Amino acid sequence: MILVTGGAGYIGSHFVLYCKEHGEQPIVLDNLVYGHKEAVPAGVPLIVGDMGDSKLLDEIFTRYPIDAVVHFAAYAYVGESVTDPAKYYLNNTVATLAVLEAMRRHGVSNFIFSSTCATYGNPITVPMDENHPQAPINPYGQSKYFVEQILKAYSLAYKLKFVALRYFNAAGGDPEGRIGESHDPETHLIPIALQVAQGKRPHISVFGTDYDTPDGTCIRDYIHILDLAQAHQLALKLLRDGGESSIFNLGSEQGYSVNDVLNICEKVTRRTIKRVNEPRRAGDPPRLVASASKARTVLGWAPTFQNLDAIIETAWKWEEKRHY
Ligand code: UDP
Repeated sequence: MILVTGGAGYIGSHFVLYCKEHGEQPIVLDNLVYGHKEAVPAGVPLIVGDMGDSKLLDEIFTRYPIDAVVHFAAYAYVGESVTDPAKYYLNNTVATLAVLEAMRRHGVSNFIFSSTCATYGNPITVPMDENHPQAPINPYGQSKYFVEQILKAYSLAYKLKFVALRYFNAAGGDPEGRIGESHDPETHLIPIALQVAQGKRPHISVFGTDYDTPDGTCIRDYIHILDLAQAHQLALKLLRDGGESSIFNLGSEQGYSVNDVLNICEKVTRRTIKRVNEPRRAGDPPRLVASASKARTVLGWAPTFQNLDAIIETAWKWEEKRHY
């Protein structure tokens, strides 16, 4: 059985749905601060509580035959991490230690960690592979970077085995529109653009048009949420089959500028999306594109969403049906 922390959040809930549909038995631990109980599929136990609550963790590990933890629970607003770093270090780093300690107490040794390309900081080379130097430029990225360091030390000293997955930009939703992206506040490019297309917002701000990129806007690598889910399942298989602890980038290996993304959103929705140029957003590197060849070769990962149009179509389906 898999304990999924943060399983009611955006990426976690898609993993839970994916693994339930692929013969796994997930249990979700989520404090519902940012997660949505509606995102947890029927039949999956949802335990509402904090991952830093050691007593609750002991109860969970005693009650359920858990052999692996897939750890999504985290705060993920870069800007907020700058203004309130304590919140990020205490939750993303310190509370993760409580999970790792509970695993040690209960002899659970497989851990899949949601890491991020934000652990790299400003790119020195593009595309970035896993050996790119790590110099995170905000407390969010640091809070995840620290966990990676803890995992390396724990895996050397104790029985823990881990896979850290460094996501680039997660995007899209369940192709059937049952679940999707829902943040409050929403800060991400694609959902905001689609809400402009729906008339729910008057315009979208384009943060920075003077970057050293072909059209002056930032370039990102967008990967479909179900392709991320697939990679988590393969990572779990690697550990369960006796594989070594490892780190993988997860991205599509294709870069799209903010304007490219907005053009595709207009094409998919067949509506005009009003753009207002604004100054750069603090902490945004100009270009983030993954090299994900290690995940393809070692995990056998084969992303199924090959272009951004297909990804945005699933996001649009969700926006039209959204129920949380
Ligand atoms: N962005 C933008 N307007 C918005 C939201 C995002 O121009 O309203 C830009 C942002 O500056 C970045 C890109 O879109 O260059 C992707 O941002 P998002 O917040 O979706 O993901 P991030 O790359 O920060 O994880």
